[in-house]
Amino acid sequence: MFVVGVTGGIGSGKTTVTNLFEHYGIEVVDADVIARQIMHPGSEALTAILARFGDQALLPNGDLNRRWLRERIFAHPDDKHWLNQLTHPIIRRELLAALARAQSPYVILSAPLLVENGLTEFCDRVLVVDVSPVMQRKRTQQRDGVSAAQVEAIMAAQASRDERLAAADHIIDNSGTEQNLIPQVKQLHELYLRLAQTKRAND
Ligand code: ADP
Repeated sequence: MFVVGVTGGIGSGKTTVTNLFEHYGIEVVDADVIARQIMHPGSEALTAILARFGDQALLPNGDLNRRWLRERIFAHPDDKHWLNQLTHPIIRRELLAALARAQSPYVILSAPLLVENGLTEFCDRVLVVDVSPVMQRKRTQQRDGVSAAQVEAIMAAQASRDERLAAADHIIDNSGTEQNLIPQVKQLHELYLRLAQTKRAND
């Protein structure tokens, strides 16, 4: 399977861009969705979380209390490290399985932390959706209604613009309107179809 990794900082326009690829029938595997799915009740990950933190990590209905866990690991780096050690191998395993199941001519792996978490090793090409930090802050605040400080904290935990761009094979510039994305996605889609075909022919 030919895998295109799509990444970008929060509010850069990853979802907007991957939706356009979906219009071409390309399947999108979202690392954030998988990271949530692996913590369902009864899962290996949630069982280990409960063994460490007890019922305070649960909502009354038995689901993981994600907000509690987020705040906990924000305040306790050792717990963050422990949680990453627990979840990263499970997420990688599930990501690979989802990529292998895809039926489209190529598949997209969408992950905000693609570069940070070393997921580029699964990708044949890396596509970065790029905007200036100013625009990233503005669009995120408009979308999520969060404070400037909250956006800042998330951005500080992500790779810098330069670090992401250094990992890019291709870059989509999302500083213009959403309409401006359409020709950029079309051109890359056609390229990825060709590259995927070449890869299949060589397998
Ligand atoms: P990400 O998935 O990278 O966090 P989104 O695709 O959700 O980013 O985009 C962030 C916000 O900015 C969304 O509300 C989206 O509708 C909006 N947006 C994306 N691209 C543009 C654009 N070119 N012009 C204006 N708003 C945009």
